[in-house]
Amino acid sequence: MDQSKVKEFCEKHIENLCNLLWLGNWKITLGYTDEKMNGGESSSLWCSFKLNYYTAHININPFECDSDEETLSHLIHELLHIVLSRYEVYRLTIEENYQSADNMLGLFNNCNEQTITILQNIFCGIYKEKYLKEDKEENENEKTD
Ligand SMILES: [Zn+2]
Repeated sequence: MDQSKVKEFCEKHIENLCNLLWLGNWKITLGYTDEKMNGGESSSLWCSFKLNYYTAHININPFECDSDEETLSHLIHELLHIVLSRYEVYRLTIEENYQSADNMLGLFNNCNEQTITILQNIFCGIYKEKYLKEDKEENENEKTD
């Protein structure tokens, strides 16, 4: 999707989404590049955060967003990484302190991503019903006015 449309959508909805997910006390910045996290090979949809400071940065790659609904879904997914960031701190602490935690990272990532995907679907449904429906109705009313 066009970068400016993705940006417009994200900036219009980020505050509502943060309120829905109880992230109002976080300072979250958004980026729209096709850069991978830390120059790695993973997705160009990512989030980094500093739990101690309640700050986070989310990158949404516009080329991976074919529609508003897909943008919404990616944005909610990355916000949920922030919601579950406490577990990331737990994982890092375990990894640092126990040599036997070699398999911890893979196990953690699977559990974390699966939990996030379930929550992502739940919150996408809620958000579409509550907010995107209102937008659609407004647009339809404007057409008939
Ligand atoms: Zn993820």
